[in-house]
Amino acid sequence: MATKTVIASSTKRMTFWEKLYLPEIAKGMGLTLKQMFQPKFTREYPEERYEPAASYRGRPVLVQEDYGERCVACGLCSRVCPAIAIEVQAAETPQEKERFPSLFEINMLRCIFCGFCEEACPEEAIVMSKDYELTFRRPEDAIFGKDRLLVPVAKLQDRLEYLRLYKG
Ligand code: SF4
Ligand code: SF4
Repeated sequence: MATKTVIASSTKRMTFWEKLYLPEIAKGMGLTLKQMFQPKFTREYPEERYEPAASYRGRPVLVQEDYGERCVACGLCSRVCPAIAIEVQAAETPQEKERFPSLFEINMLRCIFCGFCEEACPEEAIVMSKDYELTFRRPEDAIFGKDRLLVPVAKLQDRLEYLRLYKG
């Protein structure tokens, strides 16, 4: 008995209209035209800025109180940082907190915005901000010291409130 070999082909045979291409082009144009009248999801940045929610993780910042930074220079944030982006040097202060960071730097080129520093901090002294605008001309410009890291507590209320809810 003769055996027959059947070769299955996955190639779809095109219809006459598909071979013409014109109906398909018209369909595509129709879809584009329809989308032109749908609500826009893009925004005209920077004229139209994006205001992130409190859960957003922008660049990490230090919380500044009236008496100075909240940070007590314990170094926990630096130890948990997976990108080794944080450098803290502690010094003594006559204030009640006893220690403060004489140097606090974050290398924003290394930072991956994971938020581990924020989670580890026992003082809620370092938090993820809503700032997503980071541009540098030189690598050394990406190393932010206290002058650029400290943000008044009043401007971080959203995030601090969110953390209280999230951490319980
Ligand atoms: S957000 Fe993550 S990577 Fe960035 S400084 Fe904090 S721990 Fe390090
Ligand atoms: S920011 Fe928080 S975790 Fe980091 S050194 Fe200061 S107190 Fe410690």
